[in-house]
Amino acid sequence: MSDSAHLSGPLIPAMANVHSHAFQRDMRGAAERISARSASDDFWSWRQAMFAAVAALDPEQMHTVALATYTEMAAAGYGTVGEFHYVHHQPDGRPYEDPNAMAKALAQAALEAGLQIVLLPAAYHRGGFSDGADLAPGPGQLRFCDPDVEVFLERVDQLRAWADSQAGVQVGIAAHSVRAVPASWLAPIAQYAQAHSLVAHVHAQEQPRELAECRAEHGCTPIELLERSGFLGPRTTVVHAIHVSDADVNRLARSRTIVAACPTTEANLGDGFFPAIRYRDAGVRIAIGSDSNVRIDPFEETRELETLARRLSVSRNGLLAASGDLWGELAANGAASLGLGAAPGRELRIDMSHPSIRGIAEADLPYALATCAQPGIIATPSPAGGPHRHEH
Ligand SMILES: [Zn+2]
Repeated sequence: MSDSAHLSGPLIPAMANVHSHAFQRDMRGAAERISARSASDDFWSWRQAMFAAVAALDPEQMHTVALATYTEMAAAGYGTVGEFHYVHHQPDGRPYEDPNAMAKALAQAALEAGLQIVLLPAAYHRGGFSDGADLAPGPGQLRFCDPDVEVFLERVDQLRAWADSQAGVQVGIAAHSVRAVPASWLAPIAQYAQAHSLVAHVHAQEQPRELAECRAEHGCTPIELLERSGFLGPRTTVVHAIHVSDADVNRLARSRTIVAACPTTEANLGDGFFPAIRYRDAGVRIAIGSDSNVRIDPFEETRELETLARRLSVSRNGLLAASGDLWGELAANGAASLGLGAAPGRELRIDMSHPSIRGIAEADLPYALATCAQPGIIATPSPAGGPHRHEH
């Protein structure tokens, strides 16, 4: 293929990755040693392994793993990453000399990798709730935690002030989950997001146990608690939202909240089936995230989402048929989820001669992007560096 053909291929938007924990890439391979006889190797045992992986990280090592993760993202077709960041402090829970040292290490890595980043510092306070009281954080969780919501918001203030002078770095806010954050923190975080026009993210309803715990503590689902706390809204993204009632779907729909599906991670962790068809029918916007980074490939996430939807509907009428351009829709919803507005980021030049899409009419490209494409079709990973052939 001549170079000129690569310069003339169609352009598509780079994908927005709305949900990443960069350091979890370090768990690849090792976290798959699962005992075939154990019925309890699940999300919760994986979480114990994650606490172990995070225990040794300092800001320099965070930068190293994040650079590997983000370099892979940029090459695979992501243009922006929303980093849901909760490893704030030293292993014993004391803040670093610069309390935002970890966040800044992540931002630096993204910029070096050629990715825009939206830092989503996540509030975290407790190990859960049991017998009428907050559970103290376990030793593996100390470095995630703040003593009160004011201390957390103060650090977000400082991070925002720093990011103002950093091109390519924006800041949103997150509550880790209703498990890790007491209900009394949710309203102040939502109000802070509102006051400063920030996007707000939260994990919810990834696993059935989380619903049982929330029911015992609050008598409702996590999404209902978020609604009561003023946390839902068009600038809010609920991550996972897998185990949802029809009432939960309605709450998300009427508040215009975005949901983030993380298909390859949710599959890897055995989370269940993201109810894509129910969200489609309710008009809820869906964005995608690479989450644990067990896979970094927006084409695969898009295809997984589409084929999951088809399996759920027991037909070929999944998300793509309704959308016509699922990739474009996920990119636009992702930009909204990260508060990127009209500047969603770079575009990708497509090499129509790549073996996976060779012979496909350009008019059919949107359909191919959600069914048979792969990162190798990207002809120019970074227009900033001028058009050049992607090595594949
Ligand atoms: Zn997550």
